[in-house]
Amino acid sequence: MEQFANPISEQVGESVEAVVETARVPRPDELSPSAASRSFLAEALRAEIIRAGRKLWERQYVDGNGGNISCRLGTKYVLCTPTMISKRDLEPADICLSDMDGNIVAGDRLRTSELLLHLEIYRANPRARAVVHCHPPYATAFSLTGTAPPVGLISEYEIFIGPAALARYETPGTQAFARTVLPFVEDHNTILLANHGAVCWSDTVTHAEWLTEILESYCKTYLIARQIGKPLNHIPEDKIQEILVLKRKLGFPDARMDPLPKPDDSTAPVNPELEKLVRQVVSRLEKQ
Ligand SMILES: [Zn+2]
Repeated sequence: MEQFANPISEQVGESVEAVVETARVPRPDELSPSAASRSFLAEALRAEIIRAGRKLWERQYVDGNGGNISCRLGTKYVLCTPTMISKRDLEPADICLSDMDGNIVAGDRLRTSELLLHLEIYRANPRARAVVHCHPPYATAFSLTGTAPPVGLISEYEIFIGPAALARYETPGTQAFARTVLPFVEDHNTILLANHGAVCWSDTVTHAEWLTEILESYCKTYLIARQIGKPLNHIPEDKIQEILVLKRKLGFPDARMDPLPKPDDSTAPVNPELEKLVRQVVSRLEKQ
């Protein structure tokens, strides 16, 4: 049946959208560095970085001033931990705001030199919205041997990580070091850094920190299992294929399957919940 335009619902729809537009929170990209740094979103992300930093320290994945955490704020900015601070002791004022070239644009602390590594990951893969780098002992032990942990043994590891990459050694903090991960960033969310540690990326800081925990637990369990002296049982190949189907649905990368489609930032809604609400209201009005 032919659809007739309903001028009343169109007008109401436009009015609702105008109200939403007036009330909407500006995107971080629309704000000056200092305003972006003071935004509610930045405050929430700082709190998330601080929580993750404390977990890394409590789980003994970082020593001294080791490790660093960052996350993207819009497309222009990155919040990151500063240099020379224990991840146990982070305060909101310690978290710096950087641009995509690594220049600090808000905050008083010096950024970590390993932000270069984080920025290479963000530039290479738009799915990466948060990066956690640390030195968990069991995973780092693998990096000393020049081997990545084997796959096919624990389902949780297969789902969240799968094959981890191993990047070649370079001097930490340098641009050459940052670039060592580039061949792997699209197909791996977890990369071992030779003779150094591990770096994980995800959609949020919390999830990137989870990947670190999953990696470290897996490496530890594998090494304990090897000491039992019995052959290890592997997950059957058809069950691995089921896991890969699930990973594709979840949007998790895995080098054993085709690369995931690129996310389109230009169509990302400002506030998905608000947009959903507007669509519901307009659709209800159209039915009246
Ligand atoms: Zn490091």
